[in-house]
Amino acid sequence: MQERLQKLTSMPVSVIWHENKTTYLSVKKERGKLFLRLHRLFFNAPTPVLEALIRYAMNRDDSARIVIKQMAHLHFSQTTVEADPLNPVGKVYNLQEIFNQVQEILPVTKVSIGWSNRSRQGSFRSITFGTFDKHRRQIRINSILDTDQVPLYFLKFIVYHEMLHAVCPTKMDATGRCLIHTAEFRRREKEFPQFEEAKEWEKKSLTFFKKRKSHGRP
Ligand SMILES: [Zn+2]
Repeated sequence: MQERLQKLTSMPVSVIWHENKTTYLSVKKERGKLFLRLHRLFFNAPTPVLEALIRYAMNRDDSARIVIKQMAHLHFSQTTVEADPLNPVGKVYNLQEIFNQVQEILPVTKVSIGWSNRSRQGSFRSITFGTFDKHRRQIRINSILDTDQVPLYFLKFIVYHEMLHAVCPTKMDATGRCLIHTAEFRRREKEFPQFEEAKEWEKKSLTFFKKRKSHGRP
């Protein structure tokens, strides 16, 4: 592989492989040598992708960047990894029961669900109510919602939204940007029976959640 890359440039190339998916490519040019840290996904990459790697590494070529991102997108959308089990049983709500109810209007396969304990640091402006991890096919719901002050239909809506991520594929636009909430996604999101009520409740409740969060009681 290193030899295949080396053939594409006159600059000496040194490659280190890794499995860290957040930075699948990093480049350093030092003392006339090109140092690449590459994710394993590029290990058997076809030549046009290798050319793109080199073009990007040498002069930050934009079209090369898109090819690389597309390759990574393709790879990560096809791989699933072994997942730790999640706990769906909360103090008030059982997410598995809610999930099963939503399944009747939105069937998904091989998806698990549970409460997330990790209270994310960050601004109070945005609260992540739920996430869908497509590699583990897991939905995590913020335990801030595990209270009887949250109506069932709202929690159902959050679960529905995350389940929709399991059936609505992400798209990549012409600039290589990944679109998660596509037009198709937004259209189907509105099909949730209590969509308007849920959105309305979300607006009203945001102040309440921000207070709880800032007091550190998730
Ligand atoms: Zn979303």
